[in-house]
Amino acid sequence: MFKLLLFTGLLVGVYYVFFKKKALNPPSSDNSSDEAMIPCAKCGTYVQLKESFMREGKYYCSRECLEA
Ligand SMILES: [Zn+2]
Repeated sequence: MFKLLLFTGLLVGVYYVFFKKKALNPPSSDNSSDEAMIPCAKCGTYVQLKESFMREGKYYCSRECLEA
């Protein structure tokens, strides 16, 4: 009986640690897409995806390129 309790406690502990760790650290794929460098569709300048401007599925480095 004691072994069963110990085993159950271990399982809960592992599950809790894994779940908490997963919640604190967002999936690495999100980080890499945030920091990905993509070329401007107008001038070819590489810009971070999160700082780029997007229109009609194309990425631009600045508002000037976007509106040109
Ligand atoms: Zn540009």
